Amino acid sequence: MTTYDIREVLPGVFRIPVPLEGNPLKELNSYLFLGSRETGRRNLLVDTGFRTEGCKKALLEGLAQLGVSMEDTDILLTHLHADHSGNAPELIRPGGKVYISREDYRFMDGTLQEHRSERFRENGIAEDLLQAMLACTPSRTMAAPLSFRDYTLLEEGDMIPAGRYMLRAIWTPGHTPGHFCFEVCGTGAMLLGDHVLFDITPNITDWWDVPDSLGDYLRSLDKIAAYPVTLPLPGHREAGDTKLRISQLKEHHKKRLADCLRIVRELQHDPVKKPCLYDITGCMKWKIHCNGWDDFPPAQRWFALGECFAHLDHLKQEGLVREVHGETGVHYESVEK
Ligand SMILES: [Zn+2]
Repeated sequence: MTTYDIREVLPGVFRIPVPLEGNPLKELNSYLFLGSRETGRRNLLVDTGFRTEGCKKALLEGLAQLGVSMEDTDILLTHLHADHSGNAPELIRPGGKVYISREDYRFMDGTLQEHRSERFRENGIAEDLLQAMLACTPSRTMAAPLSFRDYTLLEEGDMIPAGRYMLRAIWTPGHTPGHFCFEVCGTGAMLLGDHVLFDITPNITDWWDVPDSLGDYLRSLDKIAAYPVTLPLPGHREAGDTKLRISQLKEHHKKRLADCLRIVRELQHDPVKKPCLYDITGCMKWKIHCNGWDDFPPAQRWFALGECFAHLDHLKQEGLVREVHGETGVHYESVEK
């Protein structure tokens, strides 16, 4: 049995690293709030890893190292992404609760990729690229099965028992529409999920039915900045200074928005490229070792196009860009003020 580097981050609260095989995120931080049979307080496990044998084994061995059984354990999910939620239906035992936000639950009906594909087609993305990208997106087999519907749904301000502590649910839409952070009441600790990560930038993409996910994200950063967080508990990697990181993330998106707007303006006068989603994304800067936009692997193109959508949606919402529907699909124009 492997011994995991489990750390006690707060009395009775343990971080269990769950390896995410083949994923650039490397590990998920799962957190276990220890209950006690004598007092009748149940354990709470926060986030669970992909639905893979590797993630399940790591979690169960980590829990065994802490002397914890899933029989006395509820599960709390910060958001719907498969690396956080995938394992929950496999792990939960009869009578146990799996909490997730009502808003993210709405998107767990298996239609997300259809909606996304429709928008890509409208934006002139070629069918062969679309199919190549779809083949690479995190497989449904690693996500929670659609047949599992037994979730306990959370709303803003809900209180959740967590071992000897109480958690308060704080709605932080952006990374997903129903992402929640959780304040560990009375301790200064905050479960951040993927809202604030310290050495990677959380991916912000478009969601059907959400007009401006980047705008939501920026407002959610301000919401968390108002809390005096002394112990940040992120969903991946190590923690740092929360307020400083929030200001860096806001600055990062401000620069990306300015870049995106400049590119739309330049492409309006370009003899070859067009101010369409594909070319705008290709002109933005990406941290990737590649010969050029057309050489990006399909999985990276999927994420890049989604991120570009989120920035264009925000510029539209700010009245700086308009979407124009033409014969060859949608293109974008800057609105001069
Ligand atoms: Zn995520």
